[in-house]
Amino acid sequence: MAGVKVVKQAGGKTSAKKPVGKPTDPARVAEILERLDKAYPDAHCALTHASAFQLLIATILSAQCTDERVNKTTPELFRQYPTPHDLAAVRQEVLEQVIRSTGFYRNKAKNIIGASQRIVKEFGGKVPRRMDELLTLPGVARKTANVVLGNAFGTAAGVVVDTHVQRISRRLSLTKQTTPEKIEKDLMKLLPQSRWTDFSHQIIFHGRRCCIARKPKCAECPLEDLCSSKDKTI
Ligand code: SF4
Repeated sequence: MAGVKVVKQAGGKTSAKKPVGKPTDPARVAEILERLDKAYPDAHCALTHASAFQLLIATILSAQCTDERVNKTTPELFRQYPTPHDLAAVRQEVLEQVIRSTGFYRNKAKNIIGASQRIVKEFGGKVPRRMDELLTLPGVARKTANVVLGNAFGTAAGVVVDTHVQRISRRLSLTKQTTPEKIEKDLMKLLPQSRWTDFSHQIIFHGRRCCIARKPKCAECPLEDLCSSKDKTI
């Protein structure tokens, strides 16, 4: 790879001397992507879902909540209310009790009912497949829309920027921005579109297993020699 000298280490682990040039150098970015592929080949959307609608609802529920908790809540939710028509018709106080354990349940219930009603009235009962249409649903911003488009419809319209992607993109100097919207714009410029969906999954796995917020496990990190973060622990 141009600009990167890859060195074989004991145990087959590869490392590269830091490429000369900017952190956003295409060779460095390509090296990061290659190593993420090797480290997290199984990265995937952790929210259990059987349809675009279920993924949309699960993603709304996942705000300020773990995917694990959402996955414990959605089976009963979708057993009682399997379709957009069912969730469009439920009383908010009733829905609140079903999703209570995911936190912020009043607002989430309001958004889920509002989104379901709009899907029924404006989109023929089907989750829309376009970013601009998804963004008209209550409770749906770019992150949720990107999750649905990338994972349910296979459309890479953007990059999901959650708390892990936000933190690690900055640690890896892929962006200096602090807001999800601006970070996403930087990542969309840097990454090939074919990688937008997988990159988020892999970085989220990396954030959960290695580059954790408080004390990153830098000694075990496959990107360590490419990282100059002030948060490094070695
Ligand atoms: S070296 Fe440390 S801070 Fe940098 S990406 Fe790896 S775990 Fe995160």
